[in-house]
Amino acid sequence: MRCPFCSHDDTKVIDSRLVAEGGQVRRRRECTSCSERFTSYETAELLMPRIIKQNGNREPFDEEKMRAGLLRALEKRPVSIEKIEAVVSQIEHSLQATGEREIESIRVGELVMEQLKLLDQVAFVRFASVYRDFKDLNEFREEIDRLAEEPEAGDE
Ligand SMILES: [Zn+2]
Repeated sequence: MRCPFCSHDDTKVIDSRLVAEGGQVRRRRECTSCSERFTSYETAELLMPRIIKQNGNREPFDEEKMRAGLLRALEKRPVSIEKIEAVVSQIEHSLQATGEREIESIRVGELVMEQLKLLDQVAFVRFASVYRDFKDLNEFREEIDRLAEEPEAGDE
């Protein structure tokens, strides 16, 4: 790493420790030229995959857009902001964990639905009805029936 004092491009690490609950490495460095000391922080960079829309266009993953979709489905539902934020993080983590650079928007939708299903069934049905573009009313009714058969999850 380049020295911020004299721009010499060789520095040595004199101390290295984990900080931020292990999410970051803090390093004390010393310039081999001017002997000034400084600290650097290192964090793993997890990239979000780009989204392939149904028309084939690519766009960056938009956290705000996903959150807005969740909030719309959860309008007037008894679900706390903390839980919604936890779901946002969970979905992002799942997307990063695929390790893929591009991912189809429909798979993001499926992830959102999985999480909503656990969180709030009314919100799940709202989201699914908009997102999944049910071909006919029967298909939608089948989904509702399937839900009714499954044991309730997420109720606390
Ligand atoms: Zn230096």
